[in-house]
Amino acid sequence: MLIGPPGSGKGTQAVRLAERLSIPHISTGDILRAAVKAQSPLGQQVAGIMAAGGLVGDGLITDLVRDRLAAPDTGRGFILDGYPRTASQAAALDRLRAPESFVVILIDVPGEVIVRRMSSRRVCDSCAITQSVLPDAEMEREACPYCGGNLLRRPDDHPDTVRRRLDTYEEACGPVIAYYRPRPSFTAIDGLRHADAVTADVMAYLGGAERAPRS
Ligand SMILES: [Zn+2]
Repeated sequence: MLIGPPGSGKGTQAVRLAERLSIPHISTGDILRAAVKAQSPLGQQVAGIMAAGGLVGDGLITDLVRDRLAAPDTGRGFILDGYPRTASQAAALDRLRAPESFVVILIDVPGEVIVRRMSSRRVCDSCAITQSVLPDAEMEREACPYCGGNLLRRPDDHPDTVRRRLDTYEEACGPVIAYYRPRPSFTAIDGLRHADAVTADVMAYLGGAERAPRS
């Protein structure tokens, strides 16, 4: 199970780990989209809630996760990404699978670093390459060093938007982290480093052969 704030690189790690370990990557977003597409009874409920602009509740999400975990491809394990998102979902998950069967990994990145990272991100409107500008560059428009196009900040990367998303995350996920922290299998991994070093640390923690060069 991977826990981490938006911008921590958690999604990237989930994809890599699923590939390395040849186990499925299970994200709530994918489950919701798949259920809606399959038009299963649960999927129709989800579609109705989303069409009305509502939030899919804990109970429904847990039902969907239960169905997904029952699929045959989870026999050798799975990566959970974005679930559980609340303490009540965490308690529900403990009723679906033995609590001690989970390894809980927090990709740890301080909020201020995420705000700095995301607010320095720009996307070129011509070649679409994402790049970083200097943290103190306040200009919204600069020239792309590759093609001369305009470097634009996505509205999602605006510092105020990032802070709001982090607040929402901390409100929901603080209790989830508190829920898992006392467990022997819980670990926090420093997410401030290159993605390769983070992957290596996670694999080492999981008992894989790879070892991260410690800095
Ligand atoms: Zn460009």
